[in-house]
Amino acid sequence: VKIASYIVDGRRSYGAVADGRVCDFGVAEVSRCPTLREALNAGAIRERFPEACELNFDRHLTDVQILPPITEPSKIICVGTNYAAHAAEIVGAPVRTQPSIFVRLANTLVPHEGSIVRPVLSDELDFEGELAIIIGKSGRHLKRDDALAHVAGYSIFNDASIRNYQFEHSLAAGKNFVSTGGFGPWLITADELPDPSSLTIETRLNGIVVQHASTADMVRDVADIIAYVSAITPLEVGDVIATGTPEGVGFARKPPLWMKAGDTVEVEIGGIGILRNHVVDERIA
Ligand code: MG
Repeated sequence: VKIASYIVDGRRSYGAVADGRVCDFGVAEVSRCPTLREALNAGAIRERFPEACELNFDRHLTDVQILPPITEPSKIICVGTNYAAHAAEIVGAPVRTQPSIFVRLANTLVPHEGSIVRPVLSDELDFEGELAIIIGKSGRHLKRDDALAHVAGYSIFNDASIRNYQFEHSLAAGKNFVSTGGFGPWLITADELPDPSSLTIETRLNGIVVQHASTADMVRDVADIIAYVSAITPLEVGDVIATGTPEGVGFARKPPLWMKAGDTVEVEIGGIGILRNHVVDERIA
């Protein structure tokens, strides 16, 4: 099942999406679980969602304004250089034997069809298409074999980065400019995507393919990443983990390929869908 968060009739909600239509589950759960994160945490998705959504796909997808699948995750963890060919295109990057992780703030998130903002401070706005994991069951010190049971579902992430800040200032700065993290359009539940290790991932900038790879090429796979992170910090329901980008990013090209106002960037992952964002310049009032 694909589950989206959105605004409908002026209220926040969430529901199943299929064939361009929406079954609004949030309206039934609003008093108990106002957000998808709370519905996952309360077990409502597992217990009541399937039955509710057999009935009423009575909304058009165009009637709702899509939000990030999890609007306020307690943490967003990202994995860096998790595809060997991408690590190789970062000139001078050390060869890592351990996962390289960093964090993003929730206010970097941008929904499907929302605007990625190029800051006034830099022209070096780059794309990074990634598979995102959404945690559905809390856990600590998870074993690799148990890790996938803690996944609610998968989504798509564009870990858009300000490269001169990333490389000349700090990783945290380059990855945390406001409204730079495309996320969505929905999560697909893990039961419909039992094997996340062979998905095609493709990024297109203004319709031109700029990244094309398979999640099979990850250095650390989904189970490994979850086990690793859970040993550092407790995983909570609704946590988001972006699993790293493959080769083809803009800064490694000659000449570099930066995103600019008016551009459309899409990340497509087979079995999940297409995350589409539009690039705008930051405006200072
Ligand atoms: Mg990344």
